[in-house]
Amino acid sequence: MFETLSRGFRQARNRLAGLTELTEQNIETALREVRLSLLEADVEIGVVKAFLSRVKEKALGRTLEVKVKHGGETHEVSASDHFIKICHDELEAMMAHEGQEIVWAQSGATGIMVVGLQGSGKTTSCAKLARYLDKEGKKPLLVAADMQRPAAVEQLKVLGDQLKIPVFNIPGASPVEICAAAREHAKKQGRDVIIYDTAGRLAIDEPLMKELADIKSRTKPDNIFLVVDAMIGQDAVKTARSFHDRLDISGVIVTKLDGDARGGAALSIKEVTGAPVLFTGLGETTDKFEPFRADGMASRILG
Ligand code: GDP
Repeated sequence: MFETLSRGFRQARNRLAGLTELTEQNIETALREVRLSLLEADVEIGVVKAFLSRVKEKALGRTLEVKVKHGGETHEVSASDHFIKICHDELEAMMAHEGQEIVWAQSGATGIMVVGLQGSGKTTSCAKLARYLDKEGKKPLLVAADMQRPAAVEQLKVLGDQLKIPVFNIPGASPVEICAAAREHAKKQGRDVIIYDTAGRLAIDEPLMKELADIKSRTKPDNIFLVVDAMIGQDAVKTARSFHDRLDISGVIVTKLDGDARGGAALSIKEVTGAPVLFTGLGETTDKFEPFRADGMASRILG
């Protein structure tokens, strides 16, 4: 995983090996390696540029700092370690989120609306999230409101049964009606988190967005999580931008990071949309789900 991303940083490190000083020239050489691998790993171009320019600025600043500290003698300082440390900090800052993953309701059940394109792993992620919250001592209710994909309701029911987490649906009702009725149902059943599995489509279109906007305005969820498939590379970022423009998503779940995804989506999403990656899907089963840690991801990329 992330081999493409890691390669550029490894090569940059090699370029700087044995050098004791970061100069404009060797910084440029190292950054060229990083640039290539970021682009190859599907990091969004604007994000690549911003990252490189921040690293360069810090690295040049660090050169001065080192010189001042050592009175002009830089022989004890490893250029490569300095460079990698700067990259680590910048990568982490690019992906980090402040505060908790989930915004909790002040009173009543916390609403989490989950949106995404068909096939992104949305229904699976709803079940994974429910399992995760259940383990945290919450009482989630899953709401099957993806009427677009006929099998989605059944799929969620099967997953709910396996996890012993209730699944709410009203056969024949519209997704908006189902979601609107779920709150009352959660109250009666003593459930404290409501996870709405909403419709997905193969592509973003107006009817989809309208339905999601209607559900949002009827249920007023505390969180809107977008599910994106890491395997679709640059398109994941475009998808995130479109959903965010329309729905103001609060966070992103990046799925299929267990595959041979190149990782660019996880790196670009917060920088492009402002909405951070909060969770990752790492496999098909419901236990393959983790909160996203920016520092851990930065360390894995840098090897
Ligand atoms: P939806 O149409 O967005 O609701 O997608 P599904 O939840 O049905 O998932 C589509 C496919 O992706 C299914 O075969 C899932 O098992 C698979 N899937 C979902 N999340 C992950 C993941 O994190 N890793 C892997 N490898 N497969 C996943």
